Amino acid sequence: MPEQPGKNAIEVRGVRKVFGTGENQVAALDTVSVSIRENEFFTLLGPSGCGKTTLLRLIAGFDFPTAGEILLHGQDIAPLPPFKRPVNTVFQSYALFPHMTVAQNIGFGLEMLGKSKGEIEARVAQMLRLVKMEALKARRTSQISGGQQQRVALARALAPQPKVLLLDEPLSALDYKLRKEMQIELKRLQNETGITFIFVTHDQEEALTMSDRIAVMSAGKILQVGAPRDIYDRPAERFVADFIGETNFLQGTVVAKKPGLATVKFASNATITAGYPEGFDPSGEVTLVVRPEHADLVPDPAKGTIAGMLSNIVYFGTDTHYHVKLDGGENFIVRHQNSRSSPVTYERGAKVGIQFEEDAARVLKD
Ligand code: ATP
Repeated sequence: MPEQPGKNAIEVRGVRKVFGTGENQVAALDTVSVSIRENEFFTLLGPSGCGKTTLLRLIAGFDFPTAGEILLHGQDIAPLPPFKRPVNTVFQSYALFPHMTVAQNIGFGLEMLGKSKGEIEARVAQMLRLVKMEALKARRTSQISGGQQQRVALARALAPQPKVLLLDEPLSALDYKLRKEMQIELKRLQNETGITFIFVTHDQEEALTMSDRIAVMSAGKILQVGAPRDIYDRPAERFVADFIGETNFLQGTVVAKKPGLATVKFASNATITAGYPEGFDPSGEVTLVVRPEHADLVPDPAKGTIAGMLSNIVYFGTDTHYHVKLDGGENFIVRHQNSRSSPVTYERGAKVGIQFEEDAARVLKD
């Protein structure tokens, strides 16, 4: 994706972080570079152990890079200890002081910064309004619910007006319904405060619904950075396509190529022409990816792009999944949205064709 204009809040340049020595060495971050813009809701998304928390800890200053540098508004922040960085962190565990009231917790960071009593009171009142906790300001944090604790943790982190807020899986301790509510709440807080949020999650749906941009990470590397739609519709690598949403993968061989498009032949002799990511030169064995909802079934196999047999139909209420065994032996899923008027025209065992637009498929490295 072309870089959008906008000032960078954080620039991570060639950062490596190695833990341990000798045989026990782990490169938690393997030369990572990324720019995060001002006023952006930016998400680090990836499976457990891919290096998300390590990157947050380096930005916060709790740890130091083995190599590379991190700039905040163009300045190298290496010499700054954590408390001097205009960066605050919200932890998964909230880390509130249970014996203090809600208001005392929120004001704690401001006291540490030596702010005056009047200034602290005014700011705490503003934060209580922002997170809608005015009614509970005098309660101890041991006497409020998990969702309320989460709001207090956010208010406490936002109170000193950091330039950047780091959020390390802040919603993972909440139940499903509360988590959905807090997702909307977090997005609102980011919009209202204009602070850059760097949010860590391994939940792809959470990343897609909340973020302006997402960095998908795997094994210490950033594989792709882009807007949610970009990442979903135009994955740069097989891992990204697999990690985010459901995808059909078809193995094939490149038989023709022109700029931006490759023609791939499959086991059933069908050929498909599709685009591929920048920087990838498709040849030999490749993988074709197609999202289930971007493909259509046609009753006449000859009119489809690939022919097969309907092996299963699974009804999900909002949509139906059609499982197709392709003539070449591969499995393929087509997802159709249901509507009250959608006719049921297919039966298990029927011969069908699968169709999709050229730009619905994508050729990736095998
Ligand atoms: P999770 O989602 O489980 O929190 P993560 O993506 O945040 O995972 P990190 O915690 O950044 O991953 O860890 C990345 C890698 O570095 C892992 O292999 C982890 O075991 C290793 N690692 C992290 N911290 C240390 C440490 N202090 N000492 C040794 N290895 C570490």
